[in-house]
This record gives sequence, structure tokens and C-alpha cells, in this order.
Amino acid sequence: MADSVLVIGGGIAGIQASLDLASRGMNVYLVDENPSIGGRMAQLDKTFPTMDCSICILAPKMIECSRHPNIKLLTYSEVQEVKGSAGNFEVKILKKPRYVDEEKCTGCGTCAQSCPVEVPNEFDMNIGIRKAIHIPFLQAVPLKYLIDEENCLKCRLCERVCGAKAVNFDQKPETINLNVGSIIIASGFELFDSTKKSEYGYGRYRDVLTSMEFERMLSASGPTGGNLVRLADGKVPNTIVFIQCIGSRSSKDLPYCSSVCCMYATKEAILIKEHHPESEVYIFYIDLRAFGKGFQEFINRARDEYKIKYIEGHPSRIVEDPKTKNLQVHYEDVVEGDIKNIVADLVVLCPALIPRKGNEKLSKIMNVQLDELGFFKAKDSLLNPIDTNIPGIFICGYCQSPKDIPDSVAQASGAAARAAETIIQATQRGKR
Ligand SMILES: Cc1cc2nc3c(=O)[nH]c(=O)nc-3n(C[C@H](O)[C@H](O)[C@H](O)COP(=O)(O)OP(=O)(O)OC[C@H]3O[C@@H](n4cnc5c(N)ncnc54)[C@H](O)[C@@H]3O)c2cc1C
Repeated sequence: MADSVLVIGGGIAGIQASLDLASRGMNVYLVDENPSIGGRMAQLDKTFPTMDCSICILAPKMIECSRHPNIKLLTYSEVQEVKGSAGNFEVKILKKPRYVDEEKCTGCGTCAQSCPVEVPNEFDMNIGIRKAIHIPFLQAVPLKYLIDEENCLKCRLCERVCGAKAVNFDQKPETINLNVGSIIIASGFELFDSTKKSEYGYGRYRDVLTSMEFERMLSASGPTGGNLVRLADGKVPNTIVFIQCIGSRSSKDLPYCSSVCCMYATKEAILIKEHHPESEVYIFYIDLRAFGKGFQEFINRARDEYKIKYIEGHPSRIVEDPKTKNLQVHYEDVVEGDIKNIVADLVVLCPALIPRKGNEKLSKIMNVQLDELGFFKAKDSLLNPIDTNIPGIFICGYCQSPKDIPDSVAQASGAAARAAETIIQATQRGKR
């Protein structure tokens, strides 16, 4: 019998579930495979529909997780094995070496200043650069450096300059055994590979970006300091085109709707207009899905106040002018029944948001079923969307089905309540 809960995934869903459980007096192990918690929300600039600064509302929750006496963070860690049943799961976790002692590192950054290796920064979607010894982002929790083994030259300059003597090249992977009463899976999503839609030139044309790359560009702490620029020539783009449903809602690729793209594209378009009111912004869509409270009003404002132009239809292809780097977006105007094109300075693709590749491994480790798309399968998607086929194991956030931040938070609180119930029931059974 165990009174702890294992939460797998430290995005907004996993963070919320952990905080709810901890405030009820439960012990929580929050595991994330990344070196910091925060998930995708940490990468966003602002959030629809309130336009709050994403990291400003997320960071206090991340810090609360790291300081709460009932929460133990296990970052840069993976679940390797799960045995047992509700009330008594035995879990094996592999903690990967950071080559930096977490106890000693003060997060001062002297090591990174001396590091000679520069590689693309994955947190900035590879637009910016980072050093081989790095923190994932400025507000990372824990704020502890790590060495990227693959790119490190082993010059040991970081070791020499570290006043806290935290660099440790002898660190080894560590196995941690836990006994928990319940498990919550909150492993989130990843992005469809836009290079698969070669007609749009992603990966060939520098100024065809994905929406997540664009979020990093908009962010003040991102690779361009929040300045909107063309990567090809550094010019400020004047005409910007968004294309929805890249890989989604298609019989050839993925049939489902990712649920957040109409809204976040509108958000990103409004942000462009706030930075550069003179710019022209177009959003191509299949149909507009503004299903949440205040969502339709948000789109109406974008259209009426900000003069963002919504065009029904899917462009057929994009062609870059090799000299000017301008992007010709070819499309069919379904209202006028005509073939047209827009000359854009920058194009933002909104790719399908897809289940994490790692879901399959987690599903095998825990015997938890996935649905036909690869999301974790709810026991009953109508009346029991949080339970899985295994009693004591619950799901929340995007890993269960496409959803935005408020819905992820609400479902996380539900999962925390179900996990707490499992523990209370097991404890009562133990007392009898
Ligand atoms: C471009 C873009 C803009 C968006 N803008 C908005 C917006 O403005 N407003 C809004 O409401 N929503 C927005 N969204 C949606 C929002 O990002 C999601 O709703 C939210 O991130 C879901 O949170 P989550 O915790 O379920 O998943 P995630 O944020 O994906 O977090 C999952 C976490 O689990 C970890 N993890 C994954 N697998 C494992 C594993 N096997 N072991 C351990 N850890 C693991 C990951 O490292 C990650 O930290 C946007 C999405 C995109 C793509």
C-alpha cells in the first residue's frame, strides 16, 4: 500500500494534477523526460483567449511544484518498468546523467559563457542557438545546467570555470525504485512533421515556419527577442499567411481536428497586428472551429477590429522567388470560383498536433490501451474520460485527446481527484 502518486509528464496538465494532489497532503513524484518541467505552454508567447503572457502564468506554478514539500521532481527521467496494481504499483525510473550535480549547481551560467560549442536550440524550435552546457530556457525548473553529451567536446572548460564545482563528467544513469498507489499519465503531444507536405516548402524555404517556431519568434525571450523578422534576409515581413490543418482533417494524413489551431492562429495574427498594424494578415482555413466560451467573439474581433482576412480553402502550393525570397501562395478562391495567389513575406503552417511517439512505450510498460490514433484510451470517452483500462492509472491533458490549456487544467484536477480516491480506498482497505 502506498500513499504516493506518480505523475508522468510535467506540462500544464501534469503540473496541475501534482499541485492538486500535494495540496491534499498526498506525496507526488513528477517525472518529465525533459530537463525542465513546463511542457509546451512554456514555449508559447501569449495564450488565447485572454492573451495572458504564457510563461508569466505558468512559471509560478512550476516554482510551486519545485518548492512544495510533497512534490519530488524527477526531470530528465524516464519510466522504465511498472508492476503491481491500484494501491500498490512498483515503478522503476531511469534518471539520465546531466553531468552537472543538481545539488551544487547554482544556475549562474558561467559554464555556458565559457563553452565553445554552439548548437541549434530545441526549445526555440532550432531557430536560435545554445551551448553544449545549457539550461533549456531562462525560467527552467529546476534551474540546473546540463551537458549535451552528443555535442560536448570534453574540453572541460566548464569544469574549470564552475565556482561551485558542480560539473561531473563521471555521473552515471541512476535507477530509482518507487512504490506508488496511483499513476497519472500527462504526456502531451508533438507536432506533425511539416516536411511531409512538400508542396508548402517547409524545410526548403526559410520563411515557411511552423506555428510553434512562430510562437518562439513572437516571444520576448525567444531567438529574435520578440521581433518579427524574415529569417532569409532579416527584413520585417509585411504580408503574412497562416495555413491551417497541415496534415490534419485529411483522409491522406490524419482525420481528426487538433482543436486549438483556429484559435491560436487568430491569437498569433492579432499579435502581428499589435506589433505592426500596417501588415496584411491572411488565415486559410477549412472551417473555423471556435467552440469555447468567448472564442467566436475573439475571431469576430480579429476580423472586424484587426482586419485579419479569413479565406476559406487550402492553398495548393507555395513557390519561393529565389531572388526576393518572397513566397507565392497559390490557392482557389472557393467563393469567387477563381485561382489566385498571394505574395507573402512569411508563411506560418499550423501542423496537426499528434500523440507522442513515446506513448507506445508507456502503453506497453503499463498495459494501458491507446486508441486507434495513438492517444491514451479512456475507459469510457463519454462518462469516464479520465480512467484507463487499468484501475489506478488515469489520463489527462492532450495525451488523452486534443484540448487547450483550460480543458487540460480541468481534466488534470479531475485526474488528481480520481488518483486521491484510489489512495484513500487502498488505505481504508489496508486498515480493515
Ligand atoms: C503553436 C501552439 C499554440 C498554442 N496556443 C495555445 C493557447 O494560446 N491557448 C491554449 O489554451 N492552448 C494553446 N495551445 C495548446 C496547448 O499547448 C496544450 O493544450 C497544452 O500544452 C497541453 O498540455 P499538456 O500538459 O497536456 O501537454 P504538454 O504541454 O505537451 O506537456 C507534456 C509534458 O510531458 C512530458 N513527457 C512526454 N512524454 C513523456 C514520458 N514518456 N515520460 C516523461 N515525460 C514525458 C513532456 O516533456 C512535456 O513536459 C497551443 C498549441 C500550439 C501547438
